Amino acid sequence: MDRAKTAAIVTFGCKVNQCESDTIRLSLEELGFRIVSAREPADVYIVNTCTVTAATDYQSRQAVRRASRTNPHGKIVVTGCYADLSASAVADLPGVAHVSGNAGKGCLPELIRRLLDGKLPSSKDADVFAWRQPSGKPDRTRAFLKIQDGCEAFCSYCIIPLARGKYRSLPAGSVEERISLLRHSGFREIVLTGIHLGMYGRDLQPHAGLPELLERIGSGASGFRIRLSSIEPQEISERLISVVGDSGVVCPHFHIPLQSGSDGVLKRMGRPYDSAFYLRLLEKITARLPDAAVGADVMAGFPGESEDDFRKTADLLRQAPIAYLHVFPFSKRPGAAAADFPDQVPERVKKERAAVLRSIGREKRNRFASRFVGRELSVLVESKRDRETGKWKGFSENYIPVLLDADARANEMVRVLGETASDERLFGRIA
Ligand code: SF4
Repeated sequence: MDRAKTAAIVTFGCKVNQCESDTIRLSLEELGFRIVSAREPADVYIVNTCTVTAATDYQSRQAVRRASRTNPHGKIVVTGCYADLSASAVADLPGVAHVSGNAGKGCLPELIRRLLDGKLPSSKDADVFAWRQPSGKPDRTRAFLKIQDGCEAFCSYCIIPLARGKYRSLPAGSVEERISLLRHSGFREIVLTGIHLGMYGRDLQPHAGLPELLERIGSGASGFRIRLSSIEPQEISERLISVVGDSGVVCPHFHIPLQSGSDGVLKRMGRPYDSAFYLRLLEKITARLPDAAVGADVMAGFPGESEDDFRKTADLLRQAPIAYLHVFPFSKRPGAAAADFPDQVPERVKKERAAVLRSIGREKRNRFASRFVGRELSVLVESKRDRETGKWKGFSENYIPVLLDADARANEMVRVLGETASDERLFGRIA
């Protein structure tokens, strides 16, 4: 009998990409492929790229080169946002057999099979919500479910709208069905993802947005939890906050991109809110959900960002009730308006500012975790122990990394009493 063909998948970027890579992996397994690590020689390598910064472009190219060195006879298929926007540059990389945009991801497994059989691939577009139910025991406790695709916002630093196109949402009935299949497969946490999640439902008839969807999912449900990925500030309504507050399954956790604390910079970024709006939103969330985690993305060194603009950002972050930060130095994306803006900030200054913001982020994480010393939290135990300490680890509902002293079982939801907080984590025991 022929040996099973092997495939390795390398994924960069957002949770939507991770979710789509999972679907590709499961479909390939159904087609009889054996999934191996990208460090091993494989018959085919799938590189699911990201183009959010120049660094992710570089990493995506490096992954292709590495795959070509690992198995010079293997075929390399490149997909994702970088492949969508820089198809010819990607096609010129060594070993690349096929380049597919995001819209073609649903066809990739079948295309790969035909490619390995020596048949010409078809480039027909597929359903952007193509999905496979994970079968058997999950190797992770958490599943990502893409319910929205596309962005029409065109922030001046971002080219994602060019790669992902217009708003599209997965109908609520299909979301419920997929959640039930994921629960059936044993997943205890489902992260709802989208490129522009707050726009969920905008294109559905009749219109039903994220709050309505969460109400529908949460009604009478228990034994699992739902987490929301990033949502734009202007799309977090009082209704959404109260649905999260009233729900028995939606985690009290919002990831809300800020990008800058300077109103002038926000305006040039094309972001439709100002710093006062952002702070008011955080007040509303913490008034309704005092223990909710609010995380933020923040950018260092946007063109024209002065010392004063940067100080405003740092001050806002220090004063705001934020639990953690994701920091990105500004990166020029050809095709994005800001690439040609005057007063580009020197790399050295961007790095220094990013380092200051990261240190604020560490303080924030420590302070947030410390608030739960002596208190109980619900924690979902992960399937792998912490590499450094050997302890069981998990995340609380409000997204605090927790390390457990006692024995626990993977994929179990436990009540944990926080004992100490350090290194941006909470250490505790099962209550
Ligand atoms: S909202 Fe702005 S930053 Fe986010 S994907 Fe759309 S254009 Fe990019």
